[in-house]
Amino acid sequence: MDIDFVNKTQYQFLVEDIFPALHRKDKKFIVTANPEIVMKAREDDTFKKVIQEADYTVPDGIGIILAAKMLKTPLQERIAGFDLTLDLLNYADEYELSCYFLGAKEDVNEKAVKRVESDYPNIHIAGRHNGYFDFDDRKLAEEIAATSPDIVLVAAGFPKQEKWIAAYKDLFNHGLFMGVGGTFDVLAGEVKRAPEIWVKLNLEWFYRLLQQPRVRIKRTLKLFEFMWIILKNRKK
Ligand code: UDP
Repeated sequence: MDIDFVNKTQYQFLVEDIFPALHRKDKKFIVTANPEIVMKAREDDTFKKVIQEADYTVPDGIGIILAAKMLKTPLQERIAGFDLTLDLLNYADEYELSCYFLGAKEDVNEKAVKRVESDYPNIHIAGRHNGYFDFDDRKLAEEIAATSPDIVLVAAGFPKQEKWIAAYKDLFNHGLFMGVGGTFDVLAGEVKRAPEIWVKLNLEWFYRLLQQPRVRIKRTLKLFEFMWIILKNRKK
């Protein structure tokens, strides 16, 4: 489907690519793509271009790993956006980096940032803003860029978060940009991350469906549609 994935373990990816980039103060954009994102990219050319022009697209979802295997182009492992976020926060805490938190509802954003402040006391909070902003609000983007963050986490759901990063990252001098979906909801304690055993059994998608059936059902169907397309392609 014209999307190149990072074929490294999460550890390799961080140690070989991301930590050195943070150290050098490069500008990098990571997309954490699950099957729903890949399906969206099929329907939305602008979004597809945004993903193709990102520096890294990591396979966030067992569906991507399975598909890669079925197409005989296997990938090393799943790299989940949530796990990547925690690793970035740990690194930022160790090296006293600054982070900006853009996304989620106002109270969720506030709670998530409070949690970061208490769990990662050496992180400098460059700023925070909820995710219900006007996409064309250039002034907001300029204000965020003026805080000169080392890491910008955007939790406004796809494709908005990735499109926002692509549209405005030129305003920043440096920084690691990543769309992180529902991560702030988990940090804020509003939504529970699937327990380890569900993740290990590759059933995180099912856990999320059980947790929020009404919100998730349409998205889970997209996952099956994706697998169906892969299956058809494999037969060809
Ligand atoms: N959201 C937002 N702005 C919007 C739409 C959504 O900030 O215009 C937030 C929403 O409140 C939630 C997150 O984006 O915190 C999306 O989470 P979701 O669970 O859909 O993300 P996933 O990780 O599944 O992609």
